[in-house]
Amino acid sequence: MLINLTSTADANSVKKALTGLGLWLETLLDQDGTATGFIVKGHSTPVDPEKITAVDGVGHIFKTESQHPKVDLKCHKSVDVGGLQFRPAAPTLIAGPCSIDSEERIESIASQVARAGGKVLRGGAYKPRTSPYSFSGFGAPALQWMRRAADRHQLRIVTEVMSEHDVKTVADITDIVQVGSRNMQNFALLRQVGEAKKCVMLKRGRSATVSEWLMAAEYLYASGADSVLFCERGIRGFDNETRNLIDLGAVALLSHHYGLPVIVDPSHAAGRRDLVVPLSKASIAAGAVGVMVEVHPDPSTALSDGPQALSYETLRHLSKSLELECIE
Ligand code: PEP
Ligand code: MN
Repeated sequence: MLINLTSTADANSVKKALTGLGLWLETLLDQDGTATGFIVKGHSTPVDPEKITAVDGVGHIFKTESQHPKVDLKCHKSVDVGGLQFRPAAPTLIAGPCSIDSEERIESIASQVARAGGKVLRGGAYKPRTSPYSFSGFGAPALQWMRRAADRHQLRIVTEVMSEHDVKTVADITDIVQVGSRNMQNFALLRQVGEAKKCVMLKRGRSATVSEWLMAAEYLYASGADSVLFCERGIRGFDNETRNLIDLGAVALLSHHYGLPVIVDPSHAAGRRDLVVPLSKASIAAGAVGVMVEVHPDPSTALSDGPQALSYETLRHLSKSLELECIE
């Protein structure tokens, strides 16, 4: 249940009165931090709705069975990251290396992403790797290289945080904090990332249902996230022809049914560069607000995920097929 406050209500005294009735409340805040209402938690004492509306300062009450009321409040709203709008009518291209491998290379990639009409530079400094012996990123210095390169080319950045310990370091430098698929249900990490009050790109877990994905976003909103971009990156299938199985049904569901912003990552979905352009087009057709792709100047020497990295030439081809504005 959601309880709205009247415009003149004193939120603290309303909360006190409702708590006295046996309700456990979570306060809803607007962009300026002003309390606009409350979510009534599931373990509250059942109270007659008339007793709730009789409290001075209570506006309306909305009965909802939804498990993700804060996500529901974000439906059909575009996401704004420092002036960059994510919405279906104008798809956003996010591109960059799997892992940031040197300052020179991230500069070269940033320049190509900007020329291709990309608006956000991606790149990993903390990499989740299946083997503990694989390259796992250059950490904090790589974040600085990426920030400088992005600023030179007027790009926003998105990068993954894997550990609660690194949330502050990452959130201080990035525009969008990425929670990777392996951590979609790492609830302690979700809470900490939410508290950073940034835009979060929440990758879908490889075996996560849409409902679990929405609940993970609810954790982010419940702990203060400014906005959430859902990222479909493929779920586990039974066929090894592609790395993962891209779930365009889920993209259409989130976009058209819920009105939530979805980015598709066809690079990790396919695991092979030849499928990235057609899957990107299909993703936008399904309702995605953008695509996130991996690109590298010399994929054969990339420190991770070379086989799925696009060349600069294919990045431009992708951009043209999405009808983005390229700089010739
Ligand atoms: C990534 O985007 O760098 C990444 C590791 O993706 P995922 O969490 O989807 O595997
Ligand atoms: Mn990768």
